[in-house]
Amino acid sequence: MVPAVVLWFGDPMSAVPLKNNPPFAGAPRVVTVLGATGSIGDSTMDLLRQARDRYRVEALTANNNVQDLAQLAREFNARFAAIADPSRLGELKAALAGSGIACGAGESAVIEAAQRPADWVMAAISGAAGLKPALAAVDRGATIALANKECLVCAGDIFMQRAVKAGARILPADSEHNALFQALSSGNRDELTRVIITASGGPFRTWRAADIEQATLEQALKHPNWSMGQKITIDSASMMNKGLEVIEAAYLFALQPDQIDVLVHPQSIIHGLVEFSDRSVVAQLGTPDMRIPIAHCLGWPDRIPGPSARLDLAKIGQLTFEAPDLERFPGLRLAFEALRIGKGATTVFNAANEVAVAAFMGRQIRFGAIARLVEATLDHWSQASNYALLSSADDAIAVDHNARKLAATLLPQIAAKAS
Ligand code: NAD
Ligand code: MG
Repeated sequence: MVPAVVLWFGDPMSAVPLKNNPPFAGAPRVVTVLGATGSIGDSTMDLLRQARDRYRVEALTANNNVQDLAQLAREFNARFAAIADPSRLGELKAALAGSGIACGAGESAVIEAAQRPADWVMAAISGAAGLKPALAAVDRGATIALANKECLVCAGDIFMQRAVKAGARILPADSEHNALFQALSSGNRDELTRVIITASGGPFRTWRAADIEQATLEQALKHPNWSMGQKITIDSASMMNKGLEVIEAAYLFALQPDQIDVLVHPQSIIHGLVEFSDRSVVAQLGTPDMRIPIAHCLGWPDRIPGPSARLDLAKIGQLTFEAPDLERFPGLRLAFEALRIGKGATTVFNAANEVAVAAFMGRQIRFGAIARLVEATLDHWSQASNYALLSSADDAIAVDHNARKLAATLLPQIAAKAS
């Protein structure tokens, strides 16, 4: 068991712990993986596989991939498996027959998985669908490795407040935020002046705006450095992902928008940098492999051996940097605007982006229309004077729901319009 946290990341509103606690020792750590069949889930299971004596799996969840879920649950002898699609319960039961593993289906079963007693929970469901399950783990004071950035973008204040209230620890698993988390322990909260998150720039970094507008799904799915789930890969191509990450950083570390900079770094070796008042800049580096930040979260407060390739800077030779281009990548501009507005604007930003990405993946809109739909949704939301402080997760979920409806309504006219 990890002892109760004693040192926090300076700000009382932050649930991100500052310094390492005394070393972990003793009984296996009990873990749950929400979104076990996805890209982050896969990396997490890979790390668990390499240290079986150190971890025991309580619960695993998936959206509709019954066979992979059942196979993982059997392999790790999980106590509970949940499938989000309620129509797949019979199939899951059959796949687990004779194993003694309990199972359930539907959103309530995924929430139940998060509520079961695990010390450490990987929150790796994609999209705002991950919010309620992650909050269920937060509310019982678990240590959460947070990969699901959309749940922070959708309800960041509420999420972090509930974490502080319940004594939950939020360990940033997103590579850039994990880098900041590691670098932040070099100084104190009031000595921090700025954070910088890096961006690869995605597959369209050097493309002309007119070509980005027409990019195909296949082109958008070819990320130069990282292997990830489809939604985040599209978000990386549009740089919406970096926008989501700016918002994520603001909520995680209680930062103002002007304390967060984005730096395009095509090699994806430096993941995040923290500047302190004496102008020292502390960075975290590593090969672009999500198992590195996940291993940091999994081992925390210790470090565990990781299977990732060692960083060979001599072989890489050059690290290069560019300022982001907000004209060709308007998603990043919109994210900063939404963050400055607050009052549910980031919830609207995320909801509209999820609708837009789904439409692009369904070949209903062009690549360039993703940002146009997000901008149009934010504009309509503002014209209707819908911005209001969110006071609960239910508020955020209602805004998310209504913003999705609005985005779906605006979709046909955005789809029809040329750039
Ligand atoms: P993915 O699409 O590969 O996997 C998503 C997982 O969530 C799957 O297990 C899927 O079954 C489950 N899921 C999807 N919709 C669900 C629903 N409605 N209800 C319950 N379960 C559902 O996605 P991913 O790339 O692993 O990303 C997961 C999260 O981590 C995202 O929020 C993403 O932004 C974040 N993230 C991913 C990476 C990466 O390298 N893949 C890096 C940083 C952050
Ligand atoms: Mg990231």
